[in-house]
Amino acid sequence: MALITQKPKGTGDVTPSQSNKWQTVEKLAADVAKTFGFKEIRFPTFEHTELFLRSVGETTDVVQKEMYTFMDKGNRSITLRPEGTAGTMRAVIENGLLNEAMPLKVYYLTSCFRYEKPQAGRFREHHQFGCEMVGSDSPMADAEIISLAYSVLERIGIKKLKLHINSIGCPCCRERYNTALKDYFTQYRDIICETCLERLEKNPMRLLDCKSPVCRKNTENAPLILDYLCEDCNTHFESFKKYLDLLDIPYETDPKIVRGLDYYTKTVFEFITEEIGSQGTVCAGGRYNNLIEEIGGKSTPALGFGMGLERLILVAEKQGCRFMENIPCSLYIAAMGENAAMKAAELLKLVRAEGYYAETDLTGRGLKSQMKYADKIGAVFTLVLGDNELETGTAKLKNMRTGEQTDVNLSDGFVKTLSDNVTAEMFSGTELV
Ligand code: ATP
Ligand code: MG
Repeated sequence: MALITQKPKGTGDVTPSQSNKWQTVEKLAADVAKTFGFKEIRFPTFEHTELFLRSVGETTDVVQKEMYTFMDKGNRSITLRPEGTAGTMRAVIENGLLNEAMPLKVYYLTSCFRYEKPQAGRFREHHQFGCEMVGSDSPMADAEIISLAYSVLERIGIKKLKLHINSIGCPCCRERYNTALKDYFTQYRDIICETCLERLEKNPMRLLDCKSPVCRKNTENAPLILDYLCEDCNTHFESFKKYLDLLDIPYETDPKIVRGLDYYTKTVFEFITEEIGSQGTVCAGGRYNNLIEEIGGKSTPALGFGMGLERLILVAEKQGCRFMENIPCSLYIAAMGENAAMKAAELLKLVRAEGYYAETDLTGRGLKSQMKYADKIGAVFTLVLGDNELETGTAKLKNMRTGEQTDVNLSDGFVKTLSDNVTAEMFSGTELV
């Protein structure tokens, strides 16, 4: 029986000492997205299974092996979202957003569920920052969406990520390419995995994305999609690369990328690192011009990416990126006796109303252990309140880093004095935040 004090395989907790890292990354990603004109979209954790079958594709690993699908009590087939694009596009169609000014630009921060073999950088519940742009077929849009992802990675301070790009064409190029693939893979009919045998009939391009070592080896001399692009897709790809050059975004063309989801057309890309083992794709995306129509909306070009936040944080930590620590406590009031405790509560209310993080004792500790606690939480200033201070109406505000003490009036200008001192400390060279 499962131990109820253990989380399910492949899931993760974010403890209070780790959560600031997540908040920093999430805020930064959202802030960068907003500078490109993206607004947040939220959508359900689960959708009708059919949505993912139609969008992600029936011959993909995600659909064939990884979805959390179940019948609900009303006998409907429901699936926990394995990715964010399908739900976003369903919401875009359902809410009539296709009638708004184009391009429509949305971002999300969301959890995704895939029944995978858990390992470093691969979880059964993971989190993605995703951006989707709807309504532009221009190669400039492809460059812009990559520029957004690139800016996020750059702002977090991640280095040495490689951007790999490719074009997987449109249904018109794909038909010729699939025929070529079928011809090529037929020689391996007897050794490819069972899933690929089915793919050979239904969707030969998926063979290029199989993770099984034997199947991977067979792909070595497979025909390359770039040799099969139609004129329109080729022009798009060339122009897209020019925009990347213009934006100073380094890339490599990798004609082997096909991406694990069926809905892509034309541009696909991945940001890859070698520093976190084999799960090195931190961000992946591309154009999906036929998806909206496929799931019942009016034909509209679109593109986007998903960035895996667990992998992102893993690389960032490995590279020693400095994440903000939890905000330190600006003021700790050590109070002795009930009257002092009441005065402390009163002062804290004023201080917190100004946005400062401030604490006092809530456990009935003595002075010495209150000061120890103040030290533990990294309080920048402390104030000791006892009968004497209450009588005179003044107390000493102590800077815990320099030991310096300042007299402060408890009833008049208290918050201002604290605020002046905190500001001075911020600019004194020691970093507060
Ligand atoms: P992979 O090839 O690593 O399985 P994928 O092609 O299935 O990735 P996408 O569907 O494109 O991945 O998802 C976008 C991003 O989400 C990935 O680049 C990765 O950073 C992250 N991601 C995908 N699956 C997982 C997972 N199981 N655990 C953690 N992160 C994941
Ligand atoms: Mg995968």
